[in-house]
Amino acid sequence: MNIKEKDKAYIAPTYNRFPVEIVSGKGSLVQDETGKEYIDLTSGIAVTSFGVADDEWQQAVISQIGKVQHMSNLYYTIPCAELAELLVQKTGMKKVFFSNSGAEANECAIKAARKYQAEHKGSGCYTIVTLKNSFHGRTLTTLAATGQEHYHELFQPLTPGFVSVEAGDMEELKKVCEENDAAAVMIEVIQGEGGVVVMDPGYLKALQAYVKEKEILLIVDEVQTGNGRTGAMYAYMHYGLEPDIVSTAKGLAGGLPLGATLLSEKVQDVLGYGDHGSTFGGNPVSCAAAVSIVKRLTPELFQEVRDKGAFLMDTFKGAEGVEDVSGMGLMIGIRPSKKTASEVISACMKNGVLCLSAKDRVRLLPALNIPMELLEKAAAVIKEALV
Ligand SMILES: *Cc1c(COP(=O)(O)O)cnc(C)c1O
Repeated sequence: MNIKEKDKAYIAPTYNRFPVEIVSGKGSLVQDETGKEYIDLTSGIAVTSFGVADDEWQQAVISQIGKVQHMSNLYYTIPCAELAELLVQKTGMKKVFFSNSGAEANECAIKAARKYQAEHKGSGCYTIVTLKNSFHGRTLTTLAATGQEHYHELFQPLTPGFVSVEAGDMEELKKVCEENDAAAVMIEVIQGEGGVVVMDPGYLKALQAYVKEKEILLIVDEVQTGNGRTGAMYAYMHYGLEPDIVSTAKGLAGGLPLGATLLSEKVQDVLGYGDHGSTFGGNPVSCAAAVSIVKRLTPELFQEVRDKGAFLMDTFKGAEGVEDVSGMGLMIGIRPSKKTASEVISACMKNGVLCLSAKDRVRLLPALNIPMELLEKAAAVIKEALV
């Protein structure tokens, strides 16, 4: 059997894979089994922050693997503490819990919020209010947080204590928070899986003021938008939000599994001995990889990301075959007007460019350091595919 046949025979078919087998790559260029080269605008869904097989990242990983690949969290390891310090320095948050994925980072955020409110407002204060069209993960609890019914079907009962409200509607949010004695509001400032939907700044400002006044915690899910993706360390920073808890994963370790839940001053002491844990969470190799990424998330890099994002916006806004462009930095969604997103993606693939979809949009999530020349080349291919 070849790889495609083996995959079909032995792997649960939960993914609708593209008909391409990627065997190697460097930076923003990857090759398939026939040697055909593609410009990668997917980064493994916002994961390989500095591209494939990046030198600095590779060195960090190889060096740590040669020292110790795993130790229990019952012992100290250098990369874990170094990464936590970097994250705290770059955010002003106070404490970090490491896990392995976005869903787990959100699970930790939810546990922290529930425990905090159980101690401050009482055991009836547990409801987490989320937004419709959100995506927070695939575990039963993060599915409950995900405000999209079609993910819930066939998996009932989900974890109770979640209600989703329409994004942009402050009146509904207030009503639901009051009726349910909300413990926390959990949002993405740009809904990635929901179709690259950017939240209205006025809404976020009103939401922030409301939760602060009512002492409801604000959880921001930065799993996709985080770690430089939008041209800031975290996307909430563009809006001047003051989240109590931030979750992140995807791009954090540049291609190895790692989740992080960041706790602000207010909630920094909520997770105590025995409250939470993870065998692999904060694995030294993943953390060493993440240190090599987070170190390079500088204001200069953020400016580059914003400039490249502006180039994509300018290229596609008002272009033939484009109805609308959304997003921020290097997280861009193009809604085609003449073709479906999947038709555009197929045409791009044929012509050597890998793109993603999100709902009815073509979604672009290139590496943060993609050379301008490759981005221009890829943009030209997409433009042609849109008409
Ligand atoms: C991808 C994603 C998740 C889930 O992350 P996993 O690592 O797949 O568990 C959660 N929230 C957001 C916003 C995401 O984009």
